[in-house]
Amino acid sequence: VIQITNLHKSFGQLEVLKGVDITAHRGDVVSLIGSSGSGKSTLLRCCNLLEDSQQGEILFKGEPVTWKGETHARRPADAKQVLRIRTNLSMVFQQFNLWAHMTILQNVMEAPITVLGRDKAEVEASARRYLDKVGIGDKCDNYPAQLSGGQQQRAAIARGLCMEPEALLFDEPTSALDPELEQEVIKVIKDLAAEGRTMLIVTHDMKMAADISSHVVFLHQGLIEEEGTPDDVFGAPKSDRLRGFLSATQ
Ligand code: ATP
Ligand code: MG
Repeated sequence: VIQITNLHKSFGQLEVLKGVDITAHRGDVVSLIGSSGSGKSTLLRCCNLLEDSQQGEILFKGEPVTWKGETHARRPADAKQVLRIRTNLSMVFQQFNLWAHMTILQNVMEAPITVLGRDKAEVEASARRYLDKVGIGDKCDNYPAQLSGGQQQRAAIARGLCMEPEALLFDEPTSALDPELEQEVIKVIKDLAAEGRTMLIVTHDMKMAADISSHVVFLHQGLIEEEGTPDDVFGAPKSDRLRGFLSATQ
């Protein structure tokens, strides 16, 4: 579903991604791990056009998210394409980014109605279903400030699901949460993995990554230092850098 080839991304002089290749087939759960500043968030942001890139290619369902060519010749994405990509590739952020002035139900219903123009009654039914699914069906009429962090993040996940995306991107979905709230969100993500959803997850939670991933990628300074199955990466790390990283996160 997602195919990233030789992706390069710089912010001015700072080269953040130096040629990264990642493929996620349907149903794959790919975890991205690596130290702070290694380019994990930037990589996710490139996938749904929150950032552009200088070189390389990202294909989403066979459609180029980026174009080959020199920087100046890269065709900017048009608004319709941005919409199509972001709709099919929902992103869940570390800070849940819920609208403070809307109830939880309204937050989940907003984009399918205003962006996709779907039928309101239908969207409400599916919004309630997804809120039930993530375990906060009773919070529909509350405002975000009235929810715990873990509940807010689960609302953000329900909001992503309500777009009926092809795949989900998670950027450290649990790192703003206290350990006990973290578990609620991890459980929801595990359920999604068990359903066979395609997901690209940036996480600092090695236990979750080991549990749910089909493939783990260790990024170091903008390059893939090591990758493989969870057993390979966590059970038999080859590179010194990965070993160092893993022992530092124990
Ligand atoms: P963390 O684990 O801390 O979230 P990360 O692996 O997600 O780190 P990125 O956010 O991708 O790292 O950042 C990679 C590098 O790019 C960092 O050095 C960061 O300072 C830089 N960077 C990120 N966004 C921008 C930007 N908009 N402008 C300039 N530099 C940026
Ligand atoms: Mg990050």
